[in-house]
Amino acid sequence: MAKKTRWAVIGAGIIGAAVAREILSRHEFADVTLFEKEDRPAAHQAGHNSGVVHAGLYYEPGSLKATLCRRGVSLLTDFAAEQEVAFDECGKVVVATDDVEVERLRAIHDRALANGVPDIALLDRDGLRGIEPNAEGVAALHSPHTAIIDYPGLTDALVADFRAHGGRVRFSTPVKNIDRRGGPTRDTAIVRTPVDAQEFDHVIVCAGLQADRLAARSGESRTPTVVPFFGQYFILDEGYSDAVNGLIYPVPDPKYPFLGVHVTRRIDGGLMIGPNAFLSFSREGYRGLGLSIPDSLAVAADPGFWRFAAANMATAARELPGVLSIERFVAEAARYVPSLAAADGHRATRGIRAQAMNRDGTLVDDFVIDRAGATLFVRNSPSPAATSALAIAEHLVGIIDGR
Ligand SMILES: Cc1cc2nc3c(=O)[nH]c(=O)nc-3n(C[C@H](O)[C@H](O)[C@H](O)COP(=O)(O)OP(=O)(O)OC[C@H]3O[C@@H](n4cnc5c(N)ncnc54)[C@H](O)[C@@H]3O)c2cc1C
Repeated sequence: MAKKTRWAVIGAGIIGAAVAREILSRHEFADVTLFEKEDRPAAHQAGHNSGVVHAGLYYEPGSLKATLCRRGVSLLTDFAAEQEVAFDECGKVVVATDDVEVERLRAIHDRALANGVPDIALLDRDGLRGIEPNAEGVAALHSPHTAIIDYPGLTDALVADFRAHGGRVRFSTPVKNIDRRGGPTRDTAIVRTPVDAQEFDHVIVCAGLQADRLAARSGESRTPTVVPFFGQYFILDEGYSDAVNGLIYPVPDPKYPFLGVHVTRRIDGGLMIGPNAFLSFSREGYRGLGLSIPDSLAVAADPGFWRFAAANMATAARELPGVLSIERFVAEAARYVPSLAAADGHRATRGIRAQAMNRDGTLVDDFVIDRAGATLFVRNSPSPAATSALAIAEHLVGIIDGR
């Protein structure tokens, strides 16, 4: 009988769950263990995001983000339909409010065409009103196939499918580190937890906000470091739930990898605005100030962060007072949906983005994957990595399989 190949996947976020499932779907003789430090899947980024299935408008053509997003959309859509995960192709407009933004919008349109995003169209003011009667702008880009989805539900379905095919999940099991083992014919790796140590032929680390720490504890480079950026959301009062038909986004500021405060329909029917992007005092603190001393000290000790801060401090100081204020969010959204100007609502959860930063303080744009012996480390997987998760899984397992 063929010897089983032993695989470990670290992290049951959406990427780890997709990777674990992908291994079993490709390898009949694989013995796969998924390690997760929390007691459930999707406890961090996968369960605290905008819930948008991006179509691939913004990304540098040829980048991993661009190619894996497009492939990810079709894999995700099929899997969601098969598993009956809530999904709604509600469409999206990106709205330009002045001439500078119109120029940027044209550049996004060019990228979207280069990335093969289907059925996109540039609209004038009247065209925009035809799609979103309450939106106001001088031009817009319409992406009719951008969608919303229940990402926690999808992650649960990936884990359930993995288990149904013989996969093993170890919740509440934080991986301390991974040791490289050089063998005469091939490398292996030892995964250490507080209770045991196990040898594997292949390990794939999808640790999101903890990616740099787990890599450093495993003897790999600490850089790129993870700098956490929180994004607060507000849910508007029910009377506003039908103010928009789909998703309405501003034109993003090209200086930052974040898309700006957008108006998002939620898969449960509510209307949400957010997320902003501000440096987080902790990697996993979702309430109050969410202050974590070790996380804050780690950011302060990162020389790259001070270079980033020097370039961005003035903007940060300007933004700080409104960071958790619904008035600020509503005013931002009312720039392109004026009927929201008087809206009220309540603060919803926040999400914390794992944004990788280089030593020189620049933010890493594309997905980053490093190989060290028998282990692959996902070092940067920001948005649109939820959309792209099933394609990232194909890509990672393909690297190990030599494809
Ligand atoms: C505010 C916000 C909005 C976003 N909006 C969108 C969107 O609309 N569309 C989109 O496509 N993307 C969006 N994203 C990005 C998307 O959510 C992430 O790219 C995606 O969730 C990354 O998945 P992941 O599996 O790498 O990370 P995570 O979902 O964070 O999962 C990592 C997992 O690893 C576990 N882990 C960490 N360390 C260890 C350890 N030592 N041992 C065991 N387990 C460990 C963690 O507990 C966690 O469960 C958004 C992100 C945020 C924060």
